[in-house]
Amino acid sequence: MADIRNIVILTGAGVSAESGLATFRGPDGLWEGHRVEDVCTPEALVHDPMMVHRFYDERRAKLALVKPNAAHAALAALDRAWPGALLVVTQNVDDLHERAGSKRLIHMHGELKSALCAACGSTAAWQAALPPGSKCAGCGQPKLRPAIVFFGEMPYEMDVIEAALDEADLFVSIGTSGVVYPAAGFVQIARARGARTLELNLDRSAGRSYFQECRVGPASLLVPELVRELTGRQAID
Ligand code: NAD
Ligand code: ZN
Repeated sequence: MADIRNIVILTGAGVSAESGLATFRGPDGLWEGHRVEDVCTPEALVHDPMMVHRFYDERRAKLALVKPNAAHAALAALDRAWPGALLVVTQNVDDLHERAGSKRLIHMHGELKSALCAACGSTAAWQAALPPGSKCAGCGQPKLRPAIVFFGEMPYEMDVIEAALDEADLFVSIGTSGVVYPAAGFVQIARARGARTLELNLDRSAGRSYFQECRVGPASLLVPELVRELTGRQAID
């Protein structure tokens, strides 16, 4: 790892699993008892806004009951200690990376604690419940929805992410199933640009064959280990 300067880290639901937040595709193939199509698509929002808003209200309320785990803490320590370029790109909509202290962070699939105005496109921090019909402070329209990127919608800050992937010497994917695009394709972009590629996952993911190295185990153990390797121990001991 001695020659590494620029790092991109992609995280998924697996990094928050040990904090007590359910992953997307648990053994039952559901997210907190719901089919993905029923809570994660623009069609669902049109068809049953009450149910979709309530689903994200419940997820947002749950954040008060959980805390960052050792994996989030190690990534925040890496952020503080790493002198080169570093970007954590999370698919997670929880706030555990920032609560642990990560600063160089992009929520590519949006955030539970943010509301998006479907009329003017502005976003605003949002802590409480968000019933359908809530008014945008900017344009006054009753069009606020959770700022979550649904299937078929464009993820946030793709230009910044692609620029970071272009420069990466190391790409690490942590706790993600490798089936949701475009995130699942980041490994191929990084590898084509010459980055070393590493997967950390409880099980080998669908995208494992794209990685040069796969480490199998819980994020709470594997991530602190990796950060010690990268920083020569000083960051988190
Ligand atoms: P996913 O649920 O599809 O996959 C989770 C992955 O994490 C699996 O590969 C699993 O093997 C691995 N995993 C589970 N426990 C782990 C652990 N302790 N340590 C390491 N790996 C572990 O999740 P995904 O790939 O992130 O799915 C993408 C979508 O799910 C995202 O769009 C995201 O918005 C949404 N999502 C977010 C949250 C959250 O914010 N906490 C929770 C559920 C789903
Ligand atoms: Zn608006």
